[in-house]
Amino acid sequence: MPIEITNDVFGYQAKDNGKKILTVFFCDVTFPYRKYQERTVCEIRDVVLYQANISQKTEAMHLIYKKIEEDYGEPPYIPAELDYDAKKILSILFSQGLIPKIQLLEPEFEQYKHDLSSSKAGKAAKANIVATTTKLYVSSTPRYGALPKKSSVIERAPRSYNKDRTQQLLRHVATQLFHFCKVNHYEPVEVQLLYLEGSLVIATNSIEATNFLSAQLTPELLKHILCTTYLVPDEQESKALSRFARKLKARVYGKHTFAHKREQIIQKLLREFKKSVIDTRNLAKINFEPGQIYLVTNINNGVQHAEMHLLQVLKFFEDQSGHAYGSPVIYGKKRPCFTCHISLTQAEQEGLEFSFNNYPGLFFFGELKRQTETSAQETVHTLTYYRDVYTSSSVPTNGYCTLSDSEDDGTPHAAHKI
Ligand SMILES: [Zn+2]
Repeated sequence: MPIEITNDVFGYQAKDNGKKILTVFFCDVTFPYRKYQERTVCEIRDVVLYQANISQKTEAMHLIYKKIEEDYGEPPYIPAELDYDAKKILSILFSQGLIPKIQLLEPEFEQYKHDLSSSKAGKAAKANIVATTTKLYVSSTPRYGALPKKSSVIERAPRSYNKDRTQQLLRHVATQLFHFCKVNHYEPVEVQLLYLEGSLVIATNSIEATNFLSAQLTPELLKHILCTTYLVPDEQESKALSRFARKLKARVYGKHTFAHKREQIIQKLLREFKKSVIDTRNLAKINFEPGQIYLVTNINNGVQHAEMHLLQVLKFFEDQSGHAYGSPVIYGKKRPCFTCHISLTQAEQEGLEFSFNNYPGLFFFGELKRQTETSAQETVHTLTYYRDVYTSSSVPTNGYCTLSDSEDDGTPHAAHKI
């Protein structure tokens, strides 16, 4: 017989076959909300436990928690002053990811931890956290993903890259390579580039796509790819792609002289295209030197997004020559997803000097599954405490076009194949 939940003005009670399992006493807390509104939430006062086994008590607590969420429109808040046995039950629900940390009235509560390990329980906890803290984001275009429940999607207006020529250049190159893969029926999902110490590193989300690029690319073909206009179903995007091709043709292969050394080096790298490959499982064996374009063709199991391959390379080879050739940049076709953005930000906070796209895109569960425990803690924390995500408005104004972000997936329908 399933556990039965009843409630009166003071508490919620869970019973099994008429036998009490636990009672949760609560009070309503009302506070001003926005300008003229009020919001009433439920705060747990006390939990009284009766004779029952621990799994029954845990299930009962979870059911009451969900019932309160249904009644109040949000889950109950949990004070620090509960007694030991009640905390034990709650800590199990925390560990399983069924209660997010934001419900704690004392955020410093150390004994409550989500299990974010790579164990089976850890994976289930990650799934529960995603279910409790995120909502699906779907729009009319083929976009999907998720975002923290209370946050919103902010559409960023098109921007100028006047001050960020390296970022612009890397984005254009990444976008052209992306479409080249697509017309040849490879699905890179994303292409990202890292500028580091006089070299470029290219990564995609698909090892097959990177291997394809690695096998095919020559200086001549790269020139051809960068100067080709790829056509996609979206007219605005096609126009933007045509501008990318024109700009690359003029700036990389024409008489253009970039004002800064870093872009001059990238121009030379693209023109000469000296190819090398990187196996991220064995970075110590690689003699990383200036003047090369590296492709990440072999990767650690468990890492998928292009930015994460590049971050690994950057962390390993950074600081070899004090950025004699200009500081490192990671930039690609799309925004870093919510999860990768957290790993990038964390690396920056730990003292790694580099620039990247600072506006996170949508959240993808797959990346959280693959994140290390420390980064996953950070992601869950950010998911719990809300963070807005960004998409790009594709309306070009002032000649700028943001073209793409972490969700768009324009499939080219006509362009050259090899
Ligand atoms: Zn990502």
